[in-house]
Amino acid sequence: MEHLLEIKNLHVIYRGDEATVHAVNGLDFTLDRGATLGLVGETGAGKTTTALSVMRLLPDRIGTIEEGQILLDGIDITKASEGDMRVLRGSLVSMIFQDPMTSLNPTIRVGEQVGEVLELHRKDLSKEEIEKKVDEIFQLVGLPAERKMDYPHQFSGGMRQRIVIAIALACEPKLLLADEPTTALDVTIQAQVLDLMQELKEKLNTSTILITHDLGIVAETCDQVAIMYAGEIIEIGLAEDIFEAEDHHPYTVGLFGSIPDLSKKERRLHPIDGMMPDPSDLPSGCKFHTRCPRAAEQCSLQAQPLYQRGTHGIRCRLYADWEKQQ
Ligand code: SF4
Repeated sequence: MEHLLEIKNLHVIYRGDEATVHAVNGLDFTLDRGATLGLVGETGAGKTTTALSVMRLLPDRIGTIEEGQILLDGIDITKASEGDMRVLRGSLVSMIFQDPMTSLNPTIRVGEQVGEVLELHRKDLSKEEIEKKVDEIFQLVGLPAERKMDYPHQFSGGMRQRIVIAIALACEPKLLLADEPTTALDVTIQAQVLDLMQELKEKLNTSTILITHDLGIVAETCDQVAIMYAGEIIEIGLAEDIFEAEDHHPYTVGLFGSIPDLSKKERRLHPIDGMMPDPSDLPSGCKFHTRCPRAAEQCSLQAQPLYQRGTHGIRCRLYADWEKQQ
């Protein structure tokens, strides 16, 4: 099977006392084995909800997968039992969160935290073998093995994120979900952590979904890119479709306009006007019409399918002469 992950028509909602939030609204994408996909968008676009759905870690009783399929290595995650998920998390799919401090237990030595994952998933290993494997994993992420006796607070932010990566990769999962893994780190440390992730991906052939709002990071690390807005993918393609092609969704144009281009003399940035719509009260038609500089009357009336040309897909009426997807 070529694709490691296939997400089909995924709908996720959060039900609160006062409102129902439509966080993910008909998501479709695939991820190839060994590839890295950048999931890009503003806060509230549905990126983290997508990752939590793949992990089946949506908040209890509030978050629900209403519709759709998530096929991971041929297993439909939406139908797996909680017991199956406990086995799959760590061995088939792992997640790295933004803030390494909240992912680590401050009262347990870091070596034990890495060892715990192995104890849970690798019942075939003896205590000595687990100890040896922990040393190897520390080495793999560039930390001296003797530091495994230390506690999380004895490490810098960048080192803590290396430990989180070590925990996530301990059982060599096929899919790694990295949710803004470098946002809480200094710029120089960011580069080190990204390099490390890239190196490990090549060594272990892990597929990765990198969740970020930073197009610069995506340009450096991703083979595939999906841009999300209000719970939908509004543009998707290979990295060259997003970074080199001329055709883009007006939202993507806005995202590029919000970052400085040092090769041009222009002094002003062109950020996107307005705010992401309230997910409990989404606009009709194209969900971007309230902010879109190219909006026409029909845009508020008619939701748009994804129009595809080769590997590049755009959800906008301006590309209606491309092949209609859904
Ligand atoms: Fe803008 Fe209309 Fe395209 Fe939506 S469909 S992005 S509102 S031009």
